[in-house]
Amino acid sequence: MMQISQGHLNTLDYCPRLFQHIYLDQLSIPLTFEQQEAMARGSRFHTLMQQHELGLSTQVLGEDAALSELMERFLATAPDVMRRDHALFRQSEHRRQIVFQDFLMTVVYDLLILEPEQADILDWKTGLGLPSAQKLERNWQFKLYPFVLAKTSSYLPEQITMTYWFVQPGGPDEASNPQMMRFPYAAEKHHAIAEELSILLARLEQYLEDYRAGQFLPQVDDGNGHCEACPFAIRCDRSSIHRTSEATLPALNDIHEVII
Ligand code: SF4
Repeated sequence: MMQISQGHLNTLDYCPRLFQHIYLDQLSIPLTFEQQEAMARGSRFHTLMQQHELGLSTQVLGEDAALSELMERFLATAPDVMRRDHALFRQSEHRRQIVFQDFLMTVVYDLLILEPEQADILDWKTGLGLPSAQKLERNWQFKLYPFVLAKTSSYLPEQITMTYWFVQPGGPDEASNPQMMRFPYAAEKHHAIAEELSILLARLEQYLEDYRAGQFLPQVDDGNGHCEACPFAIRCDRSSIHRTSEATLPALNDIHEVII
């Protein structure tokens, strides 16, 4: 049974051929120095938050002192994240799985807090910039995380929230203060996501069958701009398309988040 994460779904939505390159052919994406740095910083921050949750020391030495500062700024801005009084259960790096149409759907919550009438899924984002709510809502993490919790718990969709904390490196000025976005879940969303997921996975099933028969997964239209940012443009014979420095691949962190 194939394990599917939000990263798989985002990549599949972005371009089926990219999904093939990464997850079926297992080609690696060459990262720029800045991308490697950003991913390493994100990973270290997640580890620190996990240590904090476990009651371990979060003191960071040497060149990672900036990370300590980031962490302190976050804890000062978001004391309610550390609230423990009403929590029945809380765990960082909490993993859940469900079987959906013969795929093993996997989520890993940065922090899950369960209270008697409320379940909150928290996610830390350490990349630069604050995305729009619309952009977040299009991401499969936004959809899959509460969906799986509703499927695997007794909480009603209306009792579930998805909370993002944006913790960005930078000076202690207003603009670089951690910011929070919280989204309520609902039964209507739950049904819409089930339907969307069902269609996407049926498509994936067909792609996988074709792939096993020697057929490549389809490429995106070359007019939609996705190939401009793609490191596989030469492999895909899309290298004549003008590349821009503005364009970026989706969810590099997502792609690396769950290993299959
Ligand atoms: S170059 Fe274009 S078609 Fe090929 S994997 Fe990248 S986005 Fe998809």
